[in-house]
Amino acid sequence: MKILVVNAGSSSLKYQLIDMQNEKVLAKGGCERIGIDGSFLKAKGNGEEKIYQKELPNHKVAIELVLHALQDEGVGVIKSMDEIGAVGHRVVASGEFFKKTTLVTPDVLKTLEETFELAPLHNPAAATGVKACMEVMPKTPMALVFDTSFHATMPEKAYLYGIDYDDYKKYGVRKYGAHGTSHKFVSAEAAKYLGKKPEQLKIVTCHLGNGSSITAVDGGKCVDTSMGFTPLAGVLMGTRSGDIDASAVEFLARKKGLSHSEAITYLNKKCGVAGISGVSSDFRDLEAGFERGDERCALALEMFSYQTKKFVGAYAAAMGGLDCIVFTAGIGENTPIVREGVCAGLEFLGVEFDKEANKKKNDGSIRELSAKGSKVKVLIIPTNEELVIARETAELL
Ligand code: AMP
Repeated sequence: MKILVVNAGSSSLKYQLIDMQNEKVLAKGGCERIGIDGSFLKAKGNGEEKIYQKELPNHKVAIELVLHALQDEGVGVIKSMDEIGAVGHRVVASGEFFKKTTLVTPDVLKTLEETFELAPLHNPAAATGVKACMEVMPKTPMALVFDTSFHATMPEKAYLYGIDYDDYKKYGVRKYGAHGTSHKFVSAEAAKYLGKKPEQLKIVTCHLGNGSSITAVDGGKCVDTSMGFTPLAGVLMGTRSGDIDASAVEFLARKKGLSHSEAITYLNKKCGVAGISGVSSDFRDLEAGFERGDERCALALEMFSYQTKKFVGAYAAAMGGLDCIVFTAGIGENTPIVREGVCAGLEFLGVEFDKEANKKKNDGSIRELSAKGSKVKVLIIPTNEELVIARETAELL
């Protein structure tokens, strides 16, 4: 079966067509500037790339163009739309409304609307993408695959905040986590690589990208994660502050004359390593700054590594042991100085870090960074969120 994976943003729509027989990506691409002047689709297939400059007033026209490209000369990989067995849609937030991958029905779409206020930038866009696909491919089954599902196994003691329990019940304010498909994928790959069953392992997965989250995976299940009610929580990130005392937010807002929502925008967009360094949110720029002796770039890198390390330690304690640390995503796969900063000083947990192996350039393969005989294995595992979405969709069917 071939599965189309769709990741719809407010003005974008990314896709991959995956053949589930061999899990190969047959085609991929994305529409940009939907509803804005200058929209286009960049499509790849058969080793070729084609740009379609076309007005895309809405997501329906965008998905029509994607389906055209999938059957077009050159980049086309299918003869007819009927070859697409199902569509898997990425959805950022599920709240407590969905615990697992769910087949789309009219009722499910209604429930999805209830999640909009949890992820106002992402979930309405995902719903728009789903509806557009349903209009264009009415006979094809659609699945919602949530970034939060993998975290649904967290126990109450891990996901609750110390607020009035009735308010949690009434408003659903609790930790939901994020990047679940990535944490699920790399923890399962780690078990495979180590030749063990997931049930035998205690793993800390570090998804370090522009957004970063760290997850404790005990016996194949998430037991805690660093992101919270929204992706603002946890370690400081590209432009997000990460964890901060709520009273400091009120104080800052008063001093800077910001409303509640402006203060949250400030914490999401103006803080993190970009705010600390004053240089960039991109870790490549921070590394370059560090090389030329920029002290604030060095501080931003140090803070990021230190905060990540603290989650590794906390989760080893939460699980009562540690067998493996996994690094993934843009920074996790490509930034040696961060990995070294995280693993340095963790010998007491049984981590013996191979600094030379860590320096090797990313070649897209799974790599071992722990020294021979290290009790705790340290791995780089490239993430593949689209493949998880395709697998979940296929399993559901
Ligand atoms: P992600 O959100 O997973 O795409 O990660 C993006 C971040 O990874 C960027 O902000 C960069 O700081 C960092 N990064 C460092 N090296 C690379 C690289 N070679 N390719 C992509 N991202 C990189």
